[in-house]
Amino acid sequence: MKIFNTLTRQKEEFIPLRDKEVGLYTCGPTVYDYAHIGNLRTYLFEDILRRVLENFGYKVKQIMNITDVEDKIITGSQKAGLSLKTFTRKYEKIFKSDLKKLNIKSPAKFTRATEHIPAMIKLIEALLAKSLAYQIEGSVYFKTSAFKKYGKLARLDMEGLRSGARVDIDDYKEGVHDFVLWKAVKKGEPSWPSPFGKGRPGWHIECSAMSMQYLGETFDMHAAGVDLIFPHHENEIAQSEGATGKTFVNYWLHGEHLLVDGQKMSKSLGNLFTLRDLEEKDFAPLIFRYLILTTHYRSKLNFTWESLGAAKNTLRKLKDFVNELTSHKNTGLPKTSLDDYKKGFEEAITDDLNTPEALAIVWKLINNYHGQPKQYNPKKILKLIYDFDKVLGLRLKKIGSVEIPVEIKSLVEQREKLRQEKKWEEADIVREKIEKLGWRVKDTLERPIIGKI
Ligand code: AMP
Ligand code: ZN
Repeated sequence: MKIFNTLTRQKEEFIPLRDKEVGLYTCGPTVYDYAHIGNLRTYLFEDILRRVLENFGYKVKQIMNITDVEDKIITGSQKAGLSLKTFTRKYEKIFKSDLKKLNIKSPAKFTRATEHIPAMIKLIEALLAKSLAYQIEGSVYFKTSAFKKYGKLARLDMEGLRSGARVDIDDYKEGVHDFVLWKAVKKGEPSWPSPFGKGRPGWHIECSAMSMQYLGETFDMHAAGVDLIFPHHENEIAQSEGATGKTFVNYWLHGEHLLVDGQKMSKSLGNLFTLRDLEEKDFAPLIFRYLILTTHYRSKLNFTWESLGAAKNTLRKLKDFVNELTSHKNTGLPKTSLDDYKKGFEEAITDDLNTPEALAIVWKLINNYHGQPKQYNPKKILKLIYDFDKVLGLRLKKIGSVEIPVEIKSLVEQREKLRQEKKWEEADIVREKIEKLGWRVKDTLERPIIGKI
C-alpha cells in the first residue's frame, strides 16, 4: 500500500512497525458546537484509510481525542450556564452520532483531554527536565529554539524566521514559535493542580500525551486535515520527540479542505453547513459520503448543492443496481471473470486511497453488465460489490437486503397489471401512492425494481 507522507512529501510504501498491526492517531473535535461538513470530510478520509488497511488484513488500533477543555469551550459553557462536563458531553454525543450516520467506524478509544491530565503533566515535567521548556508566572512554554528539528514537518526555515520577525510575540513568550504547554489558572476558569501551579493543559500537549499513552512512543500513522500540519503537528513532534528522543510518528497523513464557493468554510462568512443542514434539505448522510469519495482526499473539494444533488442521483443508481442484482435468480454459467475489476479496485485504493478511480471501476463494471447482462453472473457481481463496499462504506448490503412490505409489493403488482393493460393514468396514480409510502419503482426491461426513497 502506498500513501503520501507529509513528512517526506512523497508517496511511500507503507511498512508497519509491527507485522499486520497499525497504530493510528486521528486528531478529534473540540466539542463546543456541531462539527461542520468540512471536519466531517476529514473524518471520512480517515475512515477510508482505516477500512483500506483492515481490508488488507491489518488490525488497526485507532485513537481519537476529544478536546473537552479549551477557550471556546469555556466561553460556550459559561454562556450556556452549563458545567464544562454537561456542555461538552452534549456536543460529544452529537459528534458521535454524526460519525454513525456517515458509517464512520468508531475508534478503539475516544480519549478525553480532561481524563488524561496526569499523562500531560508527566510529559511537561520531562520537557522541563531536558530544558526544552520554561516556566513564566505559572505557565509553561515549549522552547522551540532548543529543539533542533523544529520545523521539519511544515518545512519552516527556522534560521530565516529567527533572525527576522520579532513581531506578534506574546508578552510572556521568549521566542516567536514557542507555545504554551500549561496555562496558569485564570479567575473563573476550570483548573487542575500541577507541580507548576494550578492551571490547564495547552491543546498540543493533549495529542502528544494521549497518542503515546495508547500507541507507544513511536507509532505508525497520524492523520488530520491540512490546517493541522502547522503549528499543531509540528508542535506535537517537538514535544514528543523532545521528551523521548525517539521518532514520534512514521507516516503523517493530511486531507485537503472542503471549500464552499471556493472559500474555506467559516462561521463569519456564513458558509458553514452541518450534517443537519444537509438532512433538512433531504440529503441523507451517505449521499455526502458518496460525494466525498468522488474526490481524492488530497485535492480540495468545492461543496455545492448541485454536486450533492448529482451525488444523490448517482448513489440512487448504484442502489438500484444492487436491488436489481438481489432480485436475480442465480443463472449459473456462463461467465466473464471479474478478476480485473477486483484487481483494478484494489490497485486504486492502495494507491494513496484513490477513491475516485475505485468508483470509476465500480461504474465500469455496472455499465459493462448492462451492455451484456448475459455475459455475467449477477450473484458474483453482487458479492464483489459488497466486498468493495467494505471500503466504500455506503451500506449497500443493507439496501440489497431491505424487506419490501406486502402492501408495497401488491401495489407494484397492481401497477404492473394496469401498465400491461395500457391504463397509464391509473398506473401513475398507483405509483404516487407507492411514493407516498416512501418507496420507489423503477421500470426495467425484465421487471420493476422496488427501492426505498
Ligand atoms: P477542529 O475541530 O477545528 O480541530 O477540526 C477537526 C478536524 O477537521 C481537523 O482534522 C481539521 O484539520 C479538519 N478540518 C477543519 N476544517 C476543515 C475543512 N474545511 N475541510 C476539511 N477538514 C477540515
Ligand atoms: Zn491533535
